[in-house]
Amino acid sequence: MEKLLCGVDLGGTKLSAGLVTLDGTVIDEICTYDHTQKDSDGIVMDIVTLVDSLLKKNALTENNLLGIGVGFAGHVRYKDGTTITSSNLVAGFKNYPFKANIQKHFDTVKVFVDNDANAQTYAEYKYGAGKGYDDMIFVTISTGIGAGIICNGKLLRGITGTAGEVGHTIIRPESDRKCGCGNYGCLMTQACGLFLADIAIDKIRSGIKSKLGVTIENAHEKINGVTVKMGLDDGDELSKAIVFESADSIAIALYNLFQLYNPPIIVLGGGLINWGSIYIDRIREKFHLLAKDMLNDQIKIEFTAIGKSAGIIGAASLPLEG
Ligand SMILES: [Zn+2]
Repeated sequence: MEKLLCGVDLGGTKLSAGLVTLDGTVIDEICTYDHTQKDSDGIVMDIVTLVDSLLKKNALTENNLLGIGVGFAGHVRYKDGTTITSSNLVAGFKNYPFKANIQKHFDTVKVFVDNDANAQTYAEYKYGAGKGYDDMIFVTISTGIGAGIICNGKLLRGITGTAGEVGHTIIRPESDRKCGCGNYGCLMTQACGLFLADIAIDKIRSGIKSKLGVTIENAHEKINGVTVKMGLDDGDELSKAIVFESADSIAIALYNLFQLYNPPIIVLGGGLINWGSIYIDRIREKFHLLAKDMLNDQIKIEFTAIGKSAGIIGAASLPLEG
């Protein structure tokens, strides 16, 4: 029997594990929501239990696996699988030997841990829109912004393993929007889900009207990726202005990535791509305005080709890279 991959997607609200074939097809997946209030040791136990139940359910053992990959929402020191920071999990992940503590529970199968955006990047390269290219960049735009860079078929990691953190690159230093990292004007503050309400407030101040009853006072309650999409479908001027501002900022980031890496393709994923063609068209248009005649070969900007279960498929693909 051909060996399978196991991918574990550890998110802030949902912990899921799936069995994935070598060609990137999910054959079974299970999840739990019990981990959210646990510390790092408790989460390791939840992961081990989840993988064990998945194997039992499919009448398999760890010997049937080629590897277990875990995608972590935060910084990971890739060399030893230590987590450095976590964006949305409870405390206890600062300098935590995550990979080693999971590995203890398995005898033969090797465990891999990486940042979830890196994991999704590798899956996109292996199975998605980046398939067939030696170099590519993946940028995920959702609550926050993450990215990964493939150079010559390998993830670029840098000294720590955090290369590609495009969300914290500063694109508007004069901005008064403060990022979670403490700096002003990071790409995240201009484009991602966490800052949509702040973008809305600035737009309202500049005189843009909302037909959805959004005001400076209630923006934080009313504005999110989904309500902006609804507004967009409804012809709401404020929603359109938010989408365009996010797109323009993403375009600046993609332009900077183009100048740094000259990739043949940049793939976009994450919840905000549900805004659809108006979003990607604006990104492409702004990107080309910036790139002018410096673009000697075409560079593609596409949406992800891996939809559902991208987190699991990404994590499962990590053993193939390592
Ligand atoms: Zn930042």
